[in-house]
Amino acid sequence: MTDALFRNFIDGRFDEPSAIFDSVDPSAGTAWARMPAASEADVDRAVEAAHRALRSDLWRRMTATARGKLLVKLGDLVAANAGRLAELETRDTGKIIRETRAQIAYVGDYYRYYGGLADKHEGTHVPVDKADLDVTIRREPIGVVAAVVPWNSQLFLSAVKLGPALAAGCTIVLKASEDGPAPLLAFAELVHEAGFPAGVVNILTGFGHDCGRRLTSHPLVSRVAFTGGPSTARAVVRNTAENLAYTTLELGGKSPVVVFADADLDSAANAVVAGIFAATGQSCVAGSRLLVERSVKDEFLARLKRKAEAIRIGDPQDPATEMGPLATLRQRDWIEKVVAESLTAGGMLVTGGTRPVGSGFYYAPTIIDAGSADLPCVREELFGPVLSVLGFDSEAQALALANDTPFGLASGVFTSNLGKAHRMARDIHAGVVWVNTYRAVSPLVPFGGYGLSGLGREGGLDAIRDYTRSKSVWIKTSDEPIPDPFVMR
Ligand code: NAD
Repeated sequence: MTDALFRNFIDGRFDEPSAIFDSVDPSAGTAWARMPAASEADVDRAVEAAHRALRSDLWRRMTATARGKLLVKLGDLVAANAGRLAELETRDTGKIIRETRAQIAYVGDYYRYYGGLADKHEGTHVPVDKADLDVTIRREPIGVVAAVVPWNSQLFLSAVKLGPALAAGCTIVLKASEDGPAPLLAFAELVHEAGFPAGVVNILTGFGHDCGRRLTSHPLVSRVAFTGGPSTARAVVRNTAENLAYTTLELGGKSPVVVFADADLDSAANAVVAGIFAATGQSCVAGSRLLVERSVKDEFLARLKRKAEAIRIGDPQDPATEMGPLATLRQRDWIEKVVAESLTAGGMLVTGGTRPVGSGFYYAPTIIDAGSADLPCVREELFGPVLSVLGFDSEAQALALANDTPFGLASGVFTSNLGKAHRMARDIHAGVVWVNTYRAVSPLVPFGGYGLSGLGREGGLDAIRDYTRSKSVWIKTSDEPIPDPFVMR
């Protein structure tokens, strides 16, 4: 059934698509909707519309307070429509309805947060070291933003870009992933309903090699906000060699979860399950490397195995389901390949490693007792429900293993020792450290990675600043003529 047809939203209108492609329901493995594939010409129209809107009095002269009210209205609309958007996201990506409903309702709070901040972001006055000059620093919108998101949590990953960008007064062209774009294209209707002027927000989908490349290299784009994998990030950075756009990157991870013997092991086991099996492991913060103190390793693994085998796998639209399918066949092929290589290289399968349900892109919750930090499952981001386990004997060894990765997005530390918790939090190379908890997020808190996990931070107060640039305004306050014109002032 491919009756549903989605449209790109460009310059305040829903376009008749110039080309279309099928979107696949991962729980069935069959096409369910047709999506518009934006061409380079479509991208040009969207960027030009955003550029016109940026310069229009309607947007440029709108007060920050009025912009904020639009964002708050958008947040209210997202929350009110969370159920419908969640069903679409679940259908198009296979992410379970339990999670999509809760996450999308919370996405409303991100827009409200940035709506509230829009008129609280101030410039400064500089006590400059020249008596007859007065200097103020204005914060101005950086310009047209190109935002590119991957398929997991598209509404969420867009909110941390759209929210601060619009609060700052930018205009934006947002590219949904070609996998699972339905919720973002439907969200465009809410942008329209909220009353943003035409061209301020444009939302389209298409493929990376043409649409994504053109968008991120477009000469009228001043700012690129990218979320995706590290190899695509390199292509995006190369694209920005064309327009020299200021670029932030939110990339992948191989996040360690460190469980000390003195931790509340039951709570830690739940957190490990949340970290790797929630969202079928398709989360940038997936806690995919479990480092557990050797004295409790066997007991902890037995506990985890029981929990993993009890996970209810099934139809992602059923509220009782705890784990749905992977989003794409490509994803499952990759996971199966890395798991097979890791077992050949000496990894011991604790549980999983199979396809539990006949049709659809399902993969069982999998735990591998790795034995060596060199195994592919320990090194590669799988973006799936595969947990690799290593034992450690000391705090120093735990820290060395935790930091033995080119990534550095998230991490978890489980201990009842306060000093140990502080030491680990200080010394782990990652943008996020959760202590005795995992996978908590908030619009108020900055988020981003070290190393190959990215560049820049999303969320929190400073995110707005990242969508502005400063302008220094020097005003001579004395009535005296300019002194010696051949000496720099
Ligand atoms: P991906 O890198 O394949 O694709 C991301 C986006 O980039 C898509 O919209 C794609 O069309 C676009 N793209 C592809 N080629 C391009 C090009 N040459 N120029 C411009 N755009 C191009 O990522 P994916 O497989 O969809 O998502 C999974 C990855 O995203 C994982 O690595 C995951 O960790 C990461 N991720 C990171 C975060 C974070 O906040 N740090 C959040 C979610 C996902």
